[in-house]
Amino acid sequence: MFAKDTHILVVDDSLNIRRLIMDTLQKMGFSKIATAEEANEAFSKIVSFSTTPTPVQLVLSDLNMPGPSGLEFLKQVRAHEVFKTLPFILITTESEKGAVIEAAVNGVSGYIVKPFNVDTLTKRMREAHAKHFPSKA
Ligand SMILES: [Mg+2]
Repeated sequence: MFAKDTHILVVDDSLNIRRLIMDTLQKMGFSKIATAEEANEAFSKIVSFSTTPTPVQLVLSDLNMPGPSGLEFLKQVRAHEVFKTLPFILITTESEKGAVIEAAVNGVSGYIVKPFNVDTLTKRMREAHAKHFPSKA
């Protein structure tokens, strides 16, 4: 599982959902959480944190946002040499199954269907971690 000091970036256009995800992560013991409300802001944060002692180590991104979608954001991240292997979990709804398949092709680390609870988020993060760091699983 990701260490409790993992720097996590939460991306969602809904303030309520950003808060909900942050609360859930805090309940799980994570405290280094950054947020963005759309993909361009999120990508800028990933880039600017990458040259600091606390680069983003996990992205939890909404799929459906104004501006670039979570899928476009994923492609942008994966196209960048430095972020090719950055763990990236997509947050979707039940009706967005088609995008999940496309995301899988584009190297998504996992996905979570809204609404979710602490147990689901824990499980999905554990799976994503195991995928990226098989020896530490
Ligand atoms: Mg949304």
